[in-house]
Amino acid sequence: MHIPFVDLKSQYHSLKPEMDAAIASVLEDTAFIGGTHVSRFEEEFSRLYGVKHCISVANGTDSLYIIMKMLGIGTGDEVITAANSWISSSETISQTGATPVFADVHPGYYSMDETLLEALITPRTRAIIPVHLHGQMVNMDAVMDIAARYKLHVIEDCAQSHFSEFRGKRAGTMGIAGSFSFYPGKNLGAYGDAGCIITNDDELAEKCRMYARHGALQKHKHEIEGINSRMDGLQAAVLNVKLPHILRWTESRIRNAAAYTHALKGIGDLVLPVVRPDSMHTFHLYVIRTARRNELAIWLKEKGIETAIHYPTALPLLPAYSRLGLSAKDFPVSASHQDQILSLPMYPELTVEMIEYIAGQIKMFFN
Ligand SMILES: *Cc1c(COP(=O)(O)O)cnc(C)c1O
Repeated sequence: MHIPFVDLKSQYHSLKPEMDAAIASVLEDTAFIGGTHVSRFEEEFSRLYGVKHCISVANGTDSLYIIMKMLGIGTGDEVITAANSWISSSETISQTGATPVFADVHPGYYSMDETLLEALITPRTRAIIPVHLHGQMVNMDAVMDIAARYKLHVIEDCAQSHFSEFRGKRAGTMGIAGSFSFYPGKNLGAYGDAGCIITNDDELAEKCRMYARHGALQKHKHEIEGINSRMDGLQAAVLNVKLPHILRWTESRIRNAAAYTHALKGIGDLVLPVVRPDSMHTFHLYVIRTARRNELAIWLKEKGIETAIHYPTALPLLPAYSRLGLSAKDFPVSASHQDQILSLPMYPELTVEMIEYIAGQIKMFFN
């Protein structure tokens, strides 16, 4: 058996007639940039999230940068993000001119540890970027409470947490804005790069839209200098075909995670994912932990099972951040996890047989 880490092909095949027709219609309409597919996506996505505004952009890195820039964050400011994440969560802070400050992750839930935030706040702190890593929610009540007391903005990085929920509220709807990526392998993925911003703040929405479109809301009326960050029509058309299925796919991910957890209980020194109480984890990734991670990954590869590591080096320990002079002892949880975590194949199309095969091979490894 060969089990890929992500399988985008079986999802395409399950939607092929509709998908091919949608792509053909973009070509026929020559609606390559902007146009009806893009505006339909923005309307549908904001309707699904119950928010006033959805601003489509080129990718989920730009969305973070644009939000911060339009909140006035820049040189001399500090922004707190998670020590374990994809580098977009921190490089966008530097892009604005501000300095990233890293909070370690929770030892059991993997996303940002809210209990460490207050100690990291200085007079220069302007914002917090909670990252709902793997699809696991950050404790947003605690984050919003701290942010209110210190008058900080909260920008949710929802690139791995489409439709995750904390106490009945969806990721991206609690902070001033939510940032989404539709990179092909994300829970809702386009067929290229794409992203969006959601917000209920009218002024921020208008600024973000203007900045992402060369500083102009109307052609040739450039109020400010901006950047070029647009979702193209093909990506919007692909996302419009997928949107009606996303909640069903999310349920399948949750079901698959439960099947893994059932099949992997009590094996060796394995630590299995635990869902934060009062929240819905949407399992962008199913991450296990073992002291024998590297050996296990090789064993699974030999059995035809692809795995991955998210991420092999905690952000503050990357060469990119050597200027900050941080070390492993500043981030004990992220630093110890980076050598133990392993992401197993996870997608809605995984079958019971595949999960049982993977669990069986893991059992054999430990025996
Ligand atoms: C994927 C990802 C991003 C960036 O999204 P792109 O669309 O690839 O630019 C940002 N943050 C996190 C946590 C991600 O996983």
